[in-house]
Amino acid sequence: MKGFCRFLLDSVFPRRCVSCGSFTGGSLVCGPCHGQLLPADAAGLLPGPDAIPVYSPFFTCDVLLAVIRFLKFEGGTVAAGWLGLEMSCALAARREELDDPVIVPVPLHWTRLVRRGYDQAGLLAGEVSRHTGITLRRGTLGRSKRTRAQSSLDRGSRSGNVTGAFRLRSADRIGDRDVVLVDDLVTSGETVLACCRALEAGGPSSVTVLCAGRRRTAKIKVERPDSLMFE
Ligand SMILES: [Zn+2]
Repeated sequence: MKGFCRFLLDSVFPRRCVSCGSFTGGSLVCGPCHGQLLPADAAGLLPGPDAIPVYSPFFTCDVLLAVIRFLKFEGGTVAAGWLGLEMSCALAARREELDDPVIVPVPLHWTRLVRRGYDQAGLLAGEVSRHTGITLRRGTLGRSKRTRAQSSLDRGSRSGNVTGAFRLRSADRIGDRDVVLVDDLVTSGETVLACCRALEAGGPSSVTVLCAGRRRTAKIKVERPDSLMFE
Protein backbone atom coordinates (compact mmCIF):
# COMPACT_ATOMS: atom_id res chain seq x y z
CA MET A 1 0.00 0.00 0.00
CA LYS A 2 2.82 2.35 0.89
CA GLY A 3 4.44 1.62 -2.45
CA PHE A 4 1.20 2.27 -4.28
CA CYS A 5 0.79 5.65 -2.54
CA ARG A 6 4.38 6.49 -3.46
CA PHE A 7 3.54 5.59 -7.08
CA LEU A 8 0.51 7.87 -7.05
CA LEU A 9 2.38 10.75 -5.46
CA ASP A 10 5.32 10.42 -7.83
CA SER A 11 2.90 10.39 -10.76
CA VAL A 12 1.49 13.76 -9.75
CA PHE A 13 4.56 15.35 -8.15
CA PRO A 14 7.62 13.48 -9.37
CA ARG A 15 10.38 13.97 -6.83
CA ARG A 16 12.91 12.05 -8.81
CA CYS A 17 14.12 12.52 -12.35
CA VAL A 18 12.05 10.23 -14.56
CA SER A 19 15.16 9.47 -16.60
CA CYS A 20 18.01 8.86 -14.14
CA GLY A 21 16.17 8.67 -10.81
CA SER A 22 18.16 11.39 -9.05
CA PHE A 23 16.33 13.63 -6.60
CA THR A 24 14.87 16.76 -8.20
CA GLY A 25 12.36 17.96 -5.62
CA GLY A 26 9.51 18.30 -8.10
CA SER A 27 10.87 18.58 -11.64
CA LEU A 28 10.26 15.89 -14.22
CA VAL A 29 13.91 15.70 -15.20
CA CYS A 30 17.07 16.82 -13.44
CA GLY A 31 19.34 19.53 -14.84
CA PRO A 32 21.93 17.19 -16.40
CA CYS A 33 19.21 15.10 -18.08
CA HIS A 34 17.46 18.23 -19.30
CA GLY A 35 20.75 19.21 -20.89
CA GLN A 36 20.73 15.97 -22.88
CA LEU A 37 17.45 16.78 -24.62
CA LEU A 38 17.87 17.41 -28.35
CA PRO A 39 15.94 20.50 -29.50
CA ALA A 40 14.51 20.24 -33.02
CA ASP A 41 14.62 23.75 -34.36
CA ALA A 42 13.09 23.12 -37.79
CA ALA A 43 10.28 20.99 -39.15
CA GLY A 44 10.82 17.65 -40.83
CA LEU A 45 8.77 16.16 -43.62
CA LEU A 46 6.95 12.86 -43.78
CA PRO A 47 8.01 10.66 -46.68
CA GLY A 48 5.72 10.70 -49.69
CA PRO A 49 4.54 13.04 -52.40
CA ASP A 50 2.57 15.30 -50.09
CA ALA A 51 5.56 16.33 -47.98
CA ILE A 52 3.51 16.70 -44.81
CA PRO A 53 5.41 18.83 -42.29
CA VAL A 54 6.21 17.41 -38.85
CA TYR A 55 6.82 19.80 -35.99
CA SER A 56 8.26 18.73 -32.66
CA PRO A 57 10.17 20.49 -29.89
CA PHE A 58 12.65 17.60 -29.63
CA PHE A 59 14.31 14.79 -31.48
CA THR A 60 13.96 11.50 -29.67
CA CYS A 61 16.69 10.63 -27.19
CA ASP A 62 16.89 8.48 -24.06
CA VAL A 63 15.70 11.28 -21.77
CA LEU A 64 12.67 12.14 -23.92
CA LEU A 65 11.79 8.46 -24.24
CA ALA A 66 11.89 8.20 -20.43
CA VAL A 67 9.45 11.13 -20.17
CA ILE A 68 7.13 9.55 -22.75
CA ARG A 69 7.36 6.19 -20.95
CA PHE A 70 6.44 7.98 -17.70
CA LEU A 71 3.47 9.58 -19.48
CA LYS A 72 2.24 6.42 -21.17
CA PHE A 73 2.95 3.61 -18.78
CA GLU A 74 3.54 5.04 -15.29
CA GLY A 75 0.50 7.26 -14.85
CA GLY A 76 2.60 10.37 -15.34
CA THR A 77 -0.09 12.55 -16.84
CA VAL A 78 1.68 15.57 -15.33
CA ALA A 79 4.23 15.17 -18.13
CA ALA A 80 1.55 16.15 -20.66
CA GLY A 81 1.54 19.68 -19.23
CA TRP A 82 5.22 20.25 -19.89
CA LEU A 83 5.32 18.46 -23.24
CA GLY A 84 2.15 20.21 -24.40
CA LEU A 85 3.68 23.60 -23.68
CA GLU A 86 6.87 22.68 -25.54
CA MET A 87 4.81 21.39 -28.48
CA SER A 88 2.79 24.62 -28.57
CA CYS A 89 6.02 26.60 -28.83
CA ALA A 90 7.24 24.29 -31.62
CA LEU A 91 4.02 24.96 -33.55
CA ALA A 92 4.34 28.73 -33.22
CA ALA A 93 6.32 29.07 -36.47
CA ARG A 94 3.53 27.32 -38.37
CA ARG A 95 0.58 28.82 -36.50
CA GLU A 96 0.27 32.01 -38.54
CA GLU A 97 -0.04 30.03 -41.76
CA LEU A 98 -2.96 27.97 -40.48
CA ASP A 99 -6.42 29.28 -41.27
CA ASP A 100 -9.08 28.35 -38.74
CA PRO A 101 -7.25 25.12 -37.80
CA VAL A 102 -8.47 22.19 -35.72
CA ILE A 103 -6.45 19.78 -33.58
CA VAL A 104 -7.06 16.06 -34.07
CA PRO A 105 -5.30 13.56 -31.77
CA VAL A 106 -4.14 10.16 -33.03
CA PRO A 107 -6.65 7.87 -31.30
CA LEU A 108 -5.88 4.99 -28.97
CA HIS A 109 -7.74 1.73 -29.43
CA TRP A 110 -10.53 1.51 -26.86
CA THR A 111 -9.09 -1.60 -25.22
CA ARG A 112 -5.85 0.25 -24.48
CA LEU A 113 -7.84 3.26 -23.27
CA VAL A 114 -9.73 1.07 -20.82
CA ARG A 115 -6.54 -0.52 -19.53
CA ARG A 116 -4.53 2.71 -19.27
CA GLY A 117 -7.38 4.95 -18.19
CA TYR A 118 -6.29 7.85 -20.34
CA ASP A 119 -5.13 8.63 -23.84
CA GLN A 120 -1.70 10.25 -23.99
CA ALA A 121 -2.11 11.83 -27.44
CA GLY A 122 -5.48 13.20 -26.33
CA LEU A 123 -3.89 14.72 -23.23
CA LEU A 124 -1.13 16.34 -25.30
CA ALA A 125 -3.70 17.60 -27.82
CA GLY A 126 -5.73 19.11 -24.97
CA GLU A 127 -2.69 20.96 -23.63
CA VAL A 128 -1.78 22.27 -27.09
CA SER A 129 -5.36 23.44 -27.59
CA ARG A 130 -5.29 25.22 -24.23
CA HIS A 131 -2.03 27.02 -25.00
CA THR A 132 -2.71 27.91 -28.64
CA GLY A 133 -6.47 28.47 -28.60
CA ILE A 134 -6.87 26.05 -31.53
CA THR A 135 -10.13 24.07 -31.39
CA LEU A 136 -9.75 20.44 -30.31
CA ARG A 137 -11.75 17.83 -32.22
CA ARG A 138 -11.58 14.67 -30.15
CA GLY A 139 -13.12 11.63 -31.76
CA THR A 140 -12.62 12.84 -35.33
CA LEU A 141 -10.55 9.73 -36.00
CA GLY A 142 -11.40 6.28 -34.68
CA ARG A 143 -9.09 3.31 -34.29
CA SER A 144 -10.82 0.28 -35.67
CA LYS A 145 -7.96 -2.16 -35.37
CA ARG A 146 -5.85 -2.93 -32.37
CA THR A 147 -2.29 -2.76 -33.61
CA ARG A 148 0.93 -3.98 -32.09
CA ALA A 149 3.29 -1.33 -30.74
CA GLN A 150 5.18 0.05 -33.73
CA SER A 151 8.37 0.08 -31.68
CA SER A 152 8.17 -3.72 -31.37
CA LEU A 153 8.23 -4.25 -35.14
CA ASP A 154 10.93 -4.06 -37.77
CA ARG A 155 10.67 -1.39 -40.42
CA GLY A 156 9.11 -3.65 -43.03
CA SER A 157 6.25 -4.70 -40.77
CA ARG A 158 5.25 -1.25 -39.56
CA SER A 159 3.26 -0.11 -42.55
CA GLY A 160 1.12 -3.28 -42.67
CA ASN A 161 0.56 -3.10 -38.93
CA VAL A 162 -1.32 0.22 -39.17
CA THR A 163 -2.89 -0.19 -42.64
CA GLY A 164 -6.62 0.35 -42.25
CA ALA A 165 -6.27 0.91 -38.51
CA PHE A 166 -7.87 4.36 -38.56
CA ARG A 167 -11.15 5.66 -39.90
CA LEU A 168 -12.70 9.07 -40.18
CA ARG A 169 -15.72 9.31 -37.93
CA SER A 170 -16.90 12.80 -38.76
CA ALA A 171 -15.90 14.38 -42.07
CA ASP A 172 -17.74 17.65 -41.48
CA ARG A 173 -15.39 18.47 -38.61
CA ILE A 174 -12.38 18.92 -40.85
CA GLY A 175 -13.72 19.83 -44.30
CA ASP A 176 -11.64 22.68 -45.77
CA ARG A 177 -9.90 23.16 -42.43
CA ASP A 178 -6.21 23.03 -41.63
CA VAL A 179 -5.72 19.98 -39.42
CA VAL A 180 -3.02 19.68 -36.75
CA LEU A 181 -2.60 15.95 -36.12
CA VAL A 182 -1.12 15.29 -32.66
CA ASP A 183 0.77 12.22 -31.45
CA ASP A 184 3.39 11.63 -28.78
CA LEU A 185 6.24 10.30 -30.94
CA VAL A 186 6.84 9.96 -34.66
CA THR A 187 9.43 7.34 -35.53
CA SER A 188 8.93 5.65 -38.91
CA GLY A 189 5.96 7.95 -39.60
CA GLU A 190 3.71 5.03 -40.60
CA THR A 191 1.11 5.70 -37.90
CA VAL A 192 0.60 9.36 -38.73
CA LEU A 193 0.66 8.57 -42.47
CA ALA A 194 -2.16 6.06 -41.89
CA CYS A 195 -4.07 8.80 -40.02
CA CYS A 196 -3.43 11.25 -42.88
CA ARG A 197 -4.91 8.75 -45.34
CA ALA A 198 -8.03 8.46 -43.16
CA LEU A 199 -8.29 12.24 -42.85
CA GLU A 200 -8.13 12.67 -46.63
CA ALA A 201 -11.72 11.44 -46.92
CA GLY A 202 -12.84 14.55 -45.03
CA GLY A 203 -11.18 16.95 -47.46
CA PRO A 204 -8.95 18.92 -45.09
CA SER A 205 -7.24 21.98 -46.49
CA SER A 206 -3.91 20.76 -45.12
CA VAL A 207 -2.46 18.45 -42.48
CA THR A 208 0.40 19.36 -40.15
CA VAL A 209 1.79 16.76 -37.76
CA LEU A 210 2.75 17.87 -34.25
CA CYS A 211 4.49 15.54 -31.80
CA ALA A 212 6.71 15.73 -28.72
CA GLY A 213 9.63 14.02 -30.42
CA ARG A 214 10.60 12.65 -33.79
CA ARG A 215 13.42 10.40 -34.81
CA ARG A 216 16.38 12.22 -36.22
CA THR A 217 17.72 9.37 -38.29
CA ALA A 218 14.42 8.18 -39.79
CA LYS A 219 13.16 9.01 -43.25
CA ILE A 220 11.50 12.09 -41.83
CA LYS A 221 14.87 13.64 -41.01
CA VAL A 222 14.73 15.49 -44.34
CA GLU A 223 14.48 19.18 -43.68
CA ARG A 224 13.44 21.64 -46.34
CA PRO A 225 16.38 23.99 -46.71
CA ASP A 226 14.95 25.60 -49.83
CA SER A 227 11.90 26.94 -48.06
CA LEU A 228 11.48 29.57 -45.41
CA MET A 229 8.04 28.19 -44.72
CA PHE A 230 9.16 25.80 -42.04
CA GLU A 231 11.90 27.82 -40.43
ZN1 LIG B 1 18.19 12.91 -14.52
